Amino acid sequence: EAKSRSRGRLVFFAEEMDARYVERQRLKTDLRAAVDAGDISVAYQPMFKPDGSALECCEALARWTHPEKGAIPPNVFIQVAEEMGIVSEITRQVIKKACRDCMTWPEHISISVNLSVQDLRNELIIDTVTSVLAETGLAPGRLHLEVTESSLIEELSTVRLILEQLRGYGITVAIDDFGTGFSSLSYLDTLPVDVVKIDRSFVRNICEDVRRLKLLRGIVTLSRGLNLQIVVEGVETREQLALLIKYNCADLIQGYVYSMPVSSSDIEELSQLAERKEFEARTYVA
Ligand code: C2E
Ligand code: MG
Ligand code: MG
Ligand code: MG
Repeated sequence: EAKSRSRGRLVFFAEEMDARYVERQRLKTDLRAAVDAGDISVAYQPMFKPDGSALECCEALARWTHPEKGAIPPNVFIQVAEEMGIVSEITRQVIKKACRDCMTWPEHISISVNLSVQDLRNELIIDTVTSVLAETGLAPGRLHLEVTESSLIEELSTVRLILEQLRGYGITVAIDDFGTGFSSLSYLDTLPVDVVKIDRSFVRNICEDVRRLKLLRGIVTLSRGLNLQIVVEGVETREQLALLIKYNCADLIQGYVYSMPVSSSDIEELSQLAERKEFEARTYVA
């Protein structure tokens, strides 16, 4: 009897795994259809000067609303797209929409687009970027590309060649999620990058734990020593913001304390609010 019960469980597990597999396949089919239909949209999260007096750049964040399941988080569908080998098509669509939208914003605002590790393995990305810039007329100086720290360690020589070529056109390269991917900091001075985006995990406890603040300040000192521009991500509270300003930890702030990701049409208004110094540290929800 024990035997048949455990066999029953196995059947149950097998069925559950089947169900998950089917679900994953379904997600893949639906994602491919969405990508083919151009249904990946883009939200923009602004980066402000620490005192909120200027909106300088926006990060383009891919969005997919599944017809039945609703919004699928980008770190879920980007991974699925990577498994399917279609992430570069998403990248192309996001860069195109982002550059077009950036052209409608005040000229001092840049656009920052995330690249997948797969984009950095293939020189196709250079074609994609240059043709989108030509099509949209966006000045290369207004385009930033974010690459994760972990994708930089991989196959460094190809990645380096691609990034150096892109920088040669005047495009800015940022390391994303900085502090989460490296085993050694000895790489940092040799990477072809201009900006570090310090991961939000380094901000989370700075008000409660002085050691976390010291660690963050250490990363900031190191980055400044290498002439890198510093964006601090995931700033959620006024208290965190006050500490970052007090210790001069950021050139730009990106986080819910100033704004959630919004739609392209909200950017100009947010920029004007900032410039009129009317943009108090408060969450802007579209
Ligand atoms: P990321 O590039 O580090 O983007 C920042 C993420 O942090 C965004 O989540 C943003 O909404 C969230 N965030 C911003 N401020 C705060 C805050 O104050 N608190 C908290 N808790 N979160 C904050 P999102 O949009 O869900 O994107 C997640 C990740 O998905 C991105 O992380 C990026 O790795 C990936 N991703 C998004 N769009 C694209 C894309 O077009 N291409 C690629 N390759 N990856 C993308
Ligand atoms: Mg990013
Ligand atoms: Mg980031
Ligand atoms: Mg991050």
